[in-house]
Amino acid sequence: MHNMKEFDLVVIGGGSGGVRAARIAALHGAKVALCEKDRMGGTCVIRGCIPKKILFYSSQYQNILSNAGAYGWNIKNISKNYIKLVENKNLELKRLESIYAKNAKKAGVKIFYNEAFLKTKNIVKVGNNELFAKKVIIATGGIPKDLSIEGKEYYINSDQIMELKKIPKKLSIIGSGYIAIEFAFIFASLGSKVSLICRKDLLRGFDANLISLTKDMLLSKGINIYLNEEVKKIFVKNKTKVLLLKKSRKSFYCDEVLVAIGRKANVKSLNLKKIGIRTTKQEAIKVDTNLKTNINNIFAIGDVTDRFNLTPVAIAEGNYLSDKLFGKYKNNRVSLKNIGTAVFSSPPISSIGPTEKEALKQYKNIDVYESKFTSLKYSIVNNKIPTYIKLLVNSNNNRIIAAHMLGEEAPEIIQILAIAIQANATIKNFNDTMAIHPTVAEEFVTFKGPSRKLKRV
Ligand code: NDP
Repeated sequence: MHNMKEFDLVVIGGGSGGVRAARIAALHGAKVALCEKDRMGGTCVIRGCIPKKILFYSSQYQNILSNAGAYGWNIKNISKNYIKLVENKNLELKRLESIYAKNAKKAGVKIFYNEAFLKTKNIVKVGNNELFAKKVIIATGGIPKDLSIEGKEYYINSDQIMELKKIPKKLSIIGSGYIAIEFAFIFASLGSKVSLICRKDLLRGFDANLISLTKDMLLSKGINIYLNEEVKKIFVKNKTKVLLLKKSRKSFYCDEVLVAIGRKANVKSLNLKKIGIRTTKQEAIKVDTNLKTNINNIFAIGDVTDRFNLTPVAIAEGNYLSDKLFGKYKNNRVSLKNIGTAVFSSPPISSIGPTEKEALKQYKNIDVYESKFTSLKYSIVNNKIPTYIKLLVNSNNNRIIAAHMLGEEAPEIIQILAIAIQANATIKNFNDTMAIHPTVAEEFVTFKGPSRKLKRV
């Protein structure tokens, strides 16, 4: 083992989870190496949440500008500069990337910028270096799933759509989940003519009212929705891409085709089979409740385990694991109960807790408190955006089981309601809370009573 660098921990993957795990382990005094083949920050910072949210913020100006006249603003001759937006987005990503690297180095982590794989269960090969690792954490995240279809060379994925240099005049999106819906709204608001092709319905797993209102909002943005439809092939005619639908045999031209049909674990080059690391059918790494694989010294966190593919989960897991492995203080396991979520559509939707259907599997009697209204902000404008809120309450003890919302700032409001739900708040606690007026969120504390009652039959 001469010349081989020895580490207490080698982390493979410099995304949110990997960087947190490496940094915390190093702060506990462990000798840590972190391997990253691309840019520090991973999906969230470089190809996901952050760049998407910046594009989302830009798209929101469309609504503000369309209603500006009613609020007394004369805004003639407004134009947009997409290149400027992309440049500013990229500058912010660079800033965040360097903060990630700087903080890891400051904690004492040695960073290797190269592709890494497991040569043995204790040796990680990264570029020309072989690192001896007492423990390994795999945090290589996920990658977009491919669609096997004729003409696959003509479509782009969510990584590539962030890099476009101009707004496509016509954009077709294949998919029905978070990414498909978010980008449908973003690019429609930025001026694209968007078509959305869903093989079934959209937003599987979300509250039915949120889904139905989101459909209304997609239509109101001029987006063509094709439900229960698939794409047969993509081809090029007269230098333009053409999409042919399977069932209706309809075809249409478009400048770009985005495929967003889910993500899968990024494990291809890790050499897992040879090491004997067990994976699921979808090739995600199997871990126990301590995030350990079937190999004693190898752990996995975040999207590469394909359970809850969300940045805060990966960060919490990285933190917990390094505390547990190297810290004196062993904190509690990451709670995966009641994880809130949001889709940054226009307006966004956000939920914490089960849908009505799921809730009825757990509770016999449920009171539904719900309201749909036009908020004060939209009372004097033409281009109105609705707000819909819903609380599910266990009728037996009045505890809030779930909160669902469609409306501006829904993710911000649901984030705070999530605390109340974690703390077992009751509908009485909500009603006893004085409203802050005039706000949208006050509607959650001013319900007069349930509008429906659900009973398990
Ligand atoms: P999702 O898992 O959200 O949705 C993908 C959907 O595509 C499936 O539910 C399925 O719907 C449909 N689908 C699957 N295969 C095919 C196919 N062959 N042809 C047509 N449709 C298909 O995937 P996304 O890619 O949108 O996002 C990936 C993940 O990234 C999310 O699950 C989430 O964890 C994360 N993410 C989170 C965001 C957030 O928190 N705001 C934003 C973006 C991503 P059905 O079976 O109903 O047809």
